[in-house]
Amino acid sequence: QLSKRLAAVASFVPAGSVVADIGSDHAYLPCYLVRKKVAASAIAGEVVEGPYQSAIKQVAQDGLQHWIDVRKGSGLAVLKKDEVDVITIAGMGGPLISQILEDGKSLLPGVKRLILQPNISAISLRDWLTNNYWKLSAEDILEEDGKIYEILVAEPTNNNIQLSYTERLLGPFLMKGNSAVFRQKWQEEYKQWERILNQLDQAEPSPMIETKKEELKMKIKIVEEVLG
Ligand code: SAM
Repeated sequence: QLSKRLAAVASFVPAGSVVADIGSDHAYLPCYLVRKKVAASAIAGEVVEGPYQSAIKQVAQDGLQHWIDVRKGSGLAVLKKDEVDVITIAGMGGPLISQILEDGKSLLPGVKRLILQPNISAISLRDWLTNNYWKLSAEDILEEDGKIYEILVAEPTNNNIQLSYTERLLGPFLMKGNSAVFRQKWQEEYKQWERILNQLDQAEPSPMIETKKEELKMKIKIVEEVLG
């Protein structure tokens, strides 16, 4: 049984794709995709020995060695050019996912879709995507075990697409969707920012603190406007 979070990632994989799951840990996602015949075949990439062994074990246990290649290495370096249609990267911070994409840039031509699930800082990922000719084509947000997760789906584009700061922070599709989980996420962030702002108000004034306060006030205003 796949977690709700990984099932949501899986739901964006087009049928018949060849998928690379980077940072695959137990390889639950590629095993599920191949078992359900969504993916024709898959590569599970893992940089750490323990999780790499877990992935090998899981693939063997499911009898899927013929369809899933488990490879040890960092990021996209485990891939050859034009090997996969879809790359999934889930369960890491936005900055780390962006770094993996940046370092593996030369392997991205030919990839038709990225499905990314940043645990924090989706904004840094939206920034990387828009700066590198990837267009967001869908987003999702869900809650599982008291945590809220965002999923970003992107496809290559020739156009230079610009997002506003509000769209980069909140997500253009998630903003439009305005779901209960989306509202909950930003209400929680809002409360947190207000707490920090109160603390900064009591701190010794300095240019750095003033800059931080201005940034928080801007984000608070944005969220107030969007949540209404
Ligand atoms: N993707 C799975 C999920 O969403 O449930 C596992 C997430 S786990 C928190 C993150 C995994 O990414 C770890 O197993 C870690 O070893 C791996 N990882 C971190 N940096 C990596 C990199 N540069 N290349 C490949 N794997 C990496």
